[in-house]
Amino acid sequence: MSFASLGLTSALLRAVGEHGYQEPTPVQTEAIPPALRGADVLASAQTGTGKTAAFGLPLLQRFVQQGRLEGARRTQALILVPTRELALQVGEFLTDVGRFLLNRPKVAVVFGGVSINPQMMALRGGADVVVATPGRLLDLVDHNALSLGAVSLLVLDEADKLLNLGFADEWARIQALLPARRQNLFFSATFPPEVQALAQTLLLDPVRIDI
Ligand code: AMP
Repeated sequence: MSFASLGLTSALLRAVGEHGYQEPTPVQTEAIPPALRGADVLASAQTGTGKTAAFGLPLLQRFVQQGRLEGARRTQALILVPTRELALQVGEFLTDVGRFLLNRPKVAVVFGGVSINPQMMALRGGADVVVATPGRLLDLVDHNALSLGAVSLLVLDEADKLLNLGFADEWARIQALLPARRQNLFFSATFPPEVQALAQTLLLDPVRIDI
């Protein structure tokens, strides 16, 4: 299997090669084609399987193909992660691969445990893609630093860890801020009942992937 057979544009294929990836991992092979089609995806994938690129590459391709929304930068893609480390890692991947693209999105990474002011500054003028831990995301919304009304792609990364950290209450608030019509990509290493319940409320007829 090659990246070229997954439906990625030549710009993305070049960028992936520059990033140093030669062949897709199984989760990338399974998740990228349906994600590019706009389908919801429900993937059971552990850390280290290559899940970041599995959602990151379709996300970037959307920007290459659609470009930005007219006018001010409005956040079109939201990636929710449980920890600061994961937020930084996902942000780094998107920025590094995005750097080879003509139409690259502006990516903001926000997480709790540090001062909110630099993050508010970073969000000034808007960000096309926001990678966030949920509590800090809501703080930034409360400070009017960010609006979620134009998000058309939502990624939940490590959903089981998110739920262990109290995501259920935060999700109730975040969900109310998101447009109902959007694509959802859901990744979790384990599927206890509460993760299944969250997936069920969130996803529409998802493509299931079990790595
Ligand atoms: P992840 O599961 O996304 O955290 O990725 C785990 C590790 O695998 C990271 O170091 C990635 O850079 C690496 N990786 C992901 N996809 C590929 C690929 N297609 N080829 C080579 N390395 C990869």
